[in-house]
Amino acid sequence: MTHYDVIILGTGAGGGTLARHLAPSGKRVLMVERGGWLPREPQNISADEVFVRNRYVSPDTWRYENGQEFAPQIHYCVGGATKLYGAALYRLRTEDFGELRHHDGVSPAWPITYDELEPYYTLAEQLYCVHGARGEDPTEPPASAPYPFPAVSHEPRIQKLSDDLEALGHHPFHAPCGVMLNERDMAYSACMRCSNCDGFPCIVHAKSDAEVLGVRPALEHDNVELMVDAEAVRLTTDPAGASVAGVVINHGGTQETLTADFVVVACGAANSARLLLMSANDRHPNGLANGSDQVGRNYMFHNSQAVLALSLEENPTVFQKTLGLNDFYLKGPDVDYPLGNIQMVGKSQAPMFRGEKPAETRFAPTWSLEEVARHAVDFWLSTEDLPRPDNRVTVDEKGTITIAYQATNNEPKDRLFEQLKSMLGDLGMHHHHLLPHHAYLKNEIPVAGCAHQAGTCRFGRDPATSVLDVNCKAHELDNLYVADTSVFPSIGAVNPALTAMANALRVGDHLLERMGASSSARASAGALL
Ligand SMILES: Cc1cc2nc3c(=O)[nH]c(=O)nc-3n(C[C@H](O)[C@H](O)[C@H](O)COP(=O)(O)OP(=O)(O)OC[C@H]3O[C@@H](n4cnc5c(N)ncnc54)[C@H](O)[C@@H]3O)c2cc1C
Ligand code: SF4
Repeated sequence: MTHYDVIILGTGAGGGTLARHLAPSGKRVLMVERGGWLPREPQNISADEVFVRNRYVSPDTWRYENGQEFAPQIHYCVGGATKLYGAALYRLRTEDFGELRHHDGVSPAWPITYDELEPYYTLAEQLYCVHGARGEDPTEPPASAPYPFPAVSHEPRIQKLSDDLEALGHHPFHAPCGVMLNERDMAYSACMRCSNCDGFPCIVHAKSDAEVLGVRPALEHDNVELMVDAEAVRLTTDPAGASVAGVVINHGGTQETLTADFVVVACGAANSARLLLMSANDRHPNGLANGSDQVGRNYMFHNSQAVLALSLEENPTVFQKTLGLNDFYLKGPDVDYPLGNIQMVGKSQAPMFRGEKPAETRFAPTWSLEEVARHAVDFWLSTEDLPRPDNRVTVDEKGTITIAYQATNNEPKDRLFEQLKSMLGDLGMHHHHLLPHHAYLKNEIPVAGCAHQAGTCRFGRDPATSVLDVNCKAHELDNLYVADTSVFPSIGAVNPALTAMANALRVGDHLLERMGASSSARASAGALL
């Protein structure tokens, strides 16, 4: 059996990016992925199949604290959640790396500063072909390079929204988008700027996801392998419990044990915690790397609201996710605590409304769902949720996940909603109609909408209060790393994927150094160390 230099568990934003970064080093890298390749098929672009029938959602059943079961909106496939994501690739703000006082408490500082992660943000933006415009968003952190591609243009209705916001004295900006779009030469553009992006897989592989821009480029190197339909079920340790000795996987119903010098867990926040908790042994009775009892705790997923407003004019926008507004990110108009980020989501389509409650359309009883969809302008409001130790992932002996979660920052969340609602009349929309759009949260019970899950294995300097050290190595094990959103000590209020990618690159540089990769190998990986 092959012994690898590195085994990476999970191929999403964290794992797929790390694999690509390590690939040019010549080190033997194995990616282990629980799902398979997401099929390219006509259903990729069917709103009914994707949003109503949940075609690409895992069959998992998780539980609330009270034992009630729910179906989490989680995706097991090569590329992980990025196959379905909206590819809004934001950096956290500089302030997010320090302590930030919120309505419900303090969002803790990260053990690294923004400046330390900045070069990796720049590299991640290059690897993931991010389009954007610097200088428009007053909250944007300093960057060492321009975006690699120009901002995706607004379509006329969104340009008008931008103009109206500016007329009100706000600072709308072109949202950072990971799509491989060449607007100057559409004949040669991989992205065709379609309406089935946010929440759908891209049928032409033009979305900057971790399969297309992480896993596939990594596999071009002979030293890199991928095992699909292989779930990591347990990590074993040496007798002293000081390092991971084996990765036990369930590969198509057969158990195998794989070995490597370094093991990197990147299964997504809930599943990374699950794996460590399921790997309890005599030396680690509460779960691997869990001497601090922090594994699974501090689960966050944003206090998000998907809402739609109704434009007086029809909104024929095709690709809507081009605008953001951070004017309330650090404080509200009447309060000095953060409210959050406002951005667009994919344009509503009538089939997405199937299953919505009729009450939600009662303001316009004569309108068909098609008319509602034609007039809809769709927003995503994100308020930061704070890391509470009691918001946690636990597992039973069969590995079933339970999520205990109590929301924080409901007051700023409500204020953000009211703020947008109060502006609608000036933005060419029907006054006071800001309606919940469950198609994106997928479920009225928010915990199931775990798209932005983070924080179950936080990194920090103090082993008593964190799972991982500053390099995202487990405090208690010499060769175990975590490189996904679980490492986040706080989540900020912008989308998490670019931060997971940037941090995976940082962890990758550290591993290249530890493995003694040659300077030429490091240079071809784009390593910054
Ligand atoms: C519909 C949707 C829209 C989104 N839009 C955005 C957006 O616009 N911008 C943004 O920044 N973020 C967005 N996100 C969130 C973003 O996709 C995630 O934050 C990001 O993918 C998390 O990266 P990760 O590496 O932590 O986990 P994932 O990307 O989920 O990767 C985890 C991987 O681990 C695999 N896995 C799990 N358990 C095991 C196991 N035991 N063994 C082996 N493999 C395992 C999974 O199959 C998966 O491939 C969106 C998510 C969704 C679902
Ligand atoms: S907008 Fe572009 S990247 Fe998104 S799904 Fe359509 S073709 Fe793919």
